[in-house]
Amino acid sequence: MTLSFDITDTSTRAALAARVAVAEKPSLIGMTREELGQALVAAGVIAERQVKMRVSQIWHWLYVRGVTDFAHMFNISKDLRSTLAEHFSIGRPEIVEEQISTDGTRKWLFRFPPRGAGRPVEIETVYIPEEGRGTLCISSQVGCTLTCSFCHTGTQKLVRNLTSEEIIAQLMAARDRLGDFPDHDTPEGTMVPAEGRKVSNIVMMGMGEPLYNFEEVKKALLIASDGDGLSLSRRRITLSTSGVVPEIVRTGEEIGVMLAISLHATNDDLRDLLVPINKKYPLAELIAACRAYPGVSNARRITFEYVMLKDVNDSLEDAKALVKLLKGVPAKINLIPFNPWPGTNYQCSDWETIEKFSDYINNAGYASPIRTPRGRDILAACGQLKSDSERMKKHERLALEAMMIAGHGEA
Ligand code: SAH
Ligand code: SF4
Repeated sequence: MTLSFDITDTSTRAALAARVAVAEKPSLIGMTREELGQALVAAGVIAERQVKMRVSQIWHWLYVRGVTDFAHMFNISKDLRSTLAEHFSIGRPEIVEEQISTDGTRKWLFRFPPRGAGRPVEIETVYIPEEGRGTLCISSQVGCTLTCSFCHTGTQKLVRNLTSEEIIAQLMAARDRLGDFPDHDTPEGTMVPAEGRKVSNIVMMGMGEPLYNFEEVKKALLIASDGDGLSLSRRRITLSTSGVVPEIVRTGEEIGVMLAISLHATNDDLRDLLVPINKKYPLAELIAACRAYPGVSNARRITFEYVMLKDVNDSLEDAKALVKLLKGVPAKINLIPFNPWPGTNYQCSDWETIEKFSDYINNAGYASPIRTPRGRDILAACGQLKSDSERMKKHERLALEAMMIAGHGEA
């Protein structure tokens, strides 16, 4: 059974609404330190000579304490707090819906206010609790320009790129809901130690292609990994790309996070069909960029994601070709059982086939974990995300449930 909270008429809703950003005021969240200083000076809130001190104070309140109200910035004078509140916001996106799967996976539908003349946008973020860690799957775009044939998000047109604020706000709103930020009402607030936090890892594997939104993703991930703020180790942040080759090396140089490649095929003919960006950046170029990824080593391997599609890419010949293709690349291969969605023609490989495939790769010396599908009952699994503007119609949801019951795509 799926637990779904439509947060429209509860007291939770009232509490959350009070913290939702007032759209007209620029948010301080998502700026680099330099931008933050400039914004404060430009608004006449602080003098140039105070920039360093004020930026580090505010940074601490925003990202270590997670405050959502300037009134809680206790070591800043009351006057300055109210001037800040007149000019800026530090709220969170509106939580339109929160669903909790039977396996503990949570999916949020967040709504962000309009940008300029645009409309409000809605995106999905997923939290996956596991033994000893919890992973937040973050979106980088609303929809996607790419059209990978097995991906539900790929059937939704790109609405727009998310800003760094909207990207980092997904982490902050998840931390709020999971209790990872300290209590805001007292100056001390009990800190949640790093090892006790629910969100220990993040993956840029939600909606969209992060490397088609490089600058905003970079800003957000540098904020997430800032040691005086949200403080997530770069080794616990993974960026997944369908293969935007020109940005791969830059990702290592400028962001320094772990890399995952959506590979899914071992020859160009098949990859052109599954991951059409392959026509622009074929396999040879993609693998060369992986070999050149800064910092890649056996201790910092690249993850290759491989979706298991019945009778498409799941034979032993494919497994052999995969091992050959990745020869010499420090790699881990993540086998993803295909997650079905209404209208797809693909089916998930049989469990036995997936295990044989995995065994072959394992014997060849590569770790090849099979990703357990999580949150399928709330459509939170890989490739099932789609935002509200194109949320599933009732008959589509029923069709999907029927597919699940019939065992299609079940691993
Ligand atoms: N756009 C980026 C990141 C988001 S997709 C990328 O493509 O890498 C995250 C992962 O889920 C990718 O490896 C993607 O190929 C995979 N995926 C997409 N649709 C899927 C589906 N229906 N079942 C299983 N995995 C899927
Ligand atoms: Fe976009 Fe990634 Fe889906 Fe391809 S797999 S359509 S790149 S979100």
